[in-house]
Amino acid sequence: MPFLKLQRDLDERAEQGLLRRRRVLESPQGVHITVDGKPYLSFCSNDYLGLANHPQLIAALQAGAQQHGVGSGASHLVSGHFTAHQRLESELASFVSKPAALLFSTGYLANLGAIQALVGRGDTIFADKLNHASLNDAMLLSRAGVKRYRHNDAAHLEQLLEQSGSGRKLVITDAVFSMDGDMAPLPELLALCERYEAWLLVDDAHGFGVLGDQGRGSPSYFNLQSPLLIYMATLGKAAGVSGAVVAAEQVVIETLVQNARSYIYTTASPPALASALQASLTVLREEEWRRERLRKLITELRAGLANLPWALMPSSTPIQPLVVGGNENAVALSEGLRARGIWVPAIRPPTVPNGTARLRISLSATHTGADVAQLIGALHELAH
Ligand SMILES: *Cc1c(COP(=O)(O)O)cnc(C)c1O
Repeated sequence: MPFLKLQRDLDERAEQGLLRRRRVLESPQGVHITVDGKPYLSFCSNDYLGLANHPQLIAALQAGAQQHGVGSGASHLVSGHFTAHQRLESELASFVSKPAALLFSTGYLANLGAIQALVGRGDTIFADKLNHASLNDAMLLSRAGVKRYRHNDAAHLEQLLEQSGSGRKLVITDAVFSMDGDMAPLPELLALCERYEAWLLVDDAHGFGVLGDQGRGSPSYFNLQSPLLIYMATLGKAAGVSGAVVAAEQVVIETLVQNARSYIYTTASPPALASALQASLTVLREEEWRRERLRKLITELRAGLANLPWALMPSSTPIQPLVVGGNENAVALSEGLRARGIWVPAIRPPTVPNGTARLRISLSATHTGADVAQLIGALHELAH
């Protein structure tokens, strides 16, 4: 029976402590949330700046719906490309100092589309071993050859670039690694790309809005500018809404418009989301206090968790993983916190390597010092 086979696989997963569960959020996203009827202090969203429930963004979404309606009604290349999309693309391009930009419905689709459009059979992709799943899936879809280099190891990447043959070359990396919180050595990677005439695709899902001048992202943080750098950012994390953008030279963006299948064959996102994102960009530019608060909370958290039996990974971003090791220990710690009204997710294989199950603590600019102190206190209690 086909059912039995599926059930057996699920049972096996459950035995390994790997069954994933969804919990139902009954409040807006934020620092204080209600889940399955209970209130929690949350350290588990990617809403790093606290914009997902920001009044200016809500008002812009409502006004956008009044002006443009709800649905886009078609793909961008048919009749679904609205003034709100067009204006947001040009604002995003100038915000990240690139000549052109293209909106996608999600970051997953942006990575699939951009990589599949830029390389194919006979080309080579060079990828960090800890890249996000969407980049890994995109590599397979592209049919290009794949060489994976050791995490953040520019010397290893150089060896692989040296050995590569003809065909296009594309290096892809997370800018801030989503489960580790550390940053890629973008200046070294870009220098190699210039030397070996390769494109560099930077996935800044966790840097956009958080790092760099006014939140312009990881390239701004490192002060990098290059026509070879193709910048991708998601708009559902720090930007607080939904969607993604790829920003690059005009010729790259035009190539995506013509070839990126996840752009061409999908309905454009509702134009009101683009209106909300314009409001988000205004908040990003104007409210530096949010990034200042994040930096302060990161310092406080790291100081408070320094002498636990579990180690924080080296990270200066709002992603602060506490490595526990075994799957069941990580789940037990997460449940211990939940019993104390604090929600921090346990991240297990295959999302992270075996033996490195962890709590992924993520901070938001709308946390207070007292919120962070409460988490620190609870973890110390659970350690004893
Ligand atoms: C979240 C994430 C994505 C996917 O973006 P969505 O907009 O959520 O689809 C891509 N890359 C990285 C590194 C991410 O963390």
